[in-house]
Amino acid sequence: MEFLKFSLLPNSIKRYLLSKQAIMHLTVNLRSFKKLVRHNKKRMKLFLSKLEKNPPRGLDQMVVQADRLAWAHTDCLHCANCCKTMSPTYTRSDVQRISKFLGMTQSAFRKKWLYKDKSGDWLNVNQPCQFLDLETNMCRIYEVRPRDCAGFPHHTKKKMVDYMHVYKQNLEYCPATHRLVKNLMDRLSKA
Ligand code: SF4
Ligand code: SF4
Repeated sequence: MEFLKFSLLPNSIKRYLLSKQAIMHLTVNLRSFKKLVRHNKKRMKLFLSKLEKNPPRGLDQMVVQADRLAWAHTDCLHCANCCKTMSPTYTRSDVQRISKFLGMTQSAFRKKWLYKDKSGDWLNVNQPCQFLDLETNMCRIYEVRPRDCAGFPHHTKKKMVDYMHVYKQNLEYCPATHRLVKNLMDRLSKA
């Protein structure tokens, strides 16, 4: 069988195929992601527990590389699963900043959108988040969003061994975290 060589294709076709390819990589299909999580989560969490007990040399450097790779294949605007299924924790300065932006008092803001959980954290009452535009997956308060949202999924915030519980939780919600952990699994299984 003869295959058509990519290099011999006209530039316009090459461009089209490359853009389709990019879209396929970046698109997050949440239904398939949930299936993947159901299938893999036990194995991945076990891997993270082992990593926590016995971290290999250079782990945090590997995490930085795996983080870069994960984001090269993930576009949050095709996903927004964190905004749909989790709540950020609002700090006092988040509440100050966002309520000012919305022209509300802090107490009116808290009363309308938040509740205090058992550990005293302020969280969203609604899910998906009230500030998510469900048509575009964009945040309506992006410029002043909670710091927790701005840093999510916190991949390189701390040394991985000190943050394993966060990875374990987020790999079920965030395709980028799932990809990062999968990348580490593949890499370390070859070592
Ligand atoms: S941070 Fe993770 S869960 Fe949130 S939108 Fe981006 S890929 Fe999706
Ligand atoms: S505030 Fe914005 S970024 Fe944060 S959860 Fe809501 S929609 Fe998402």
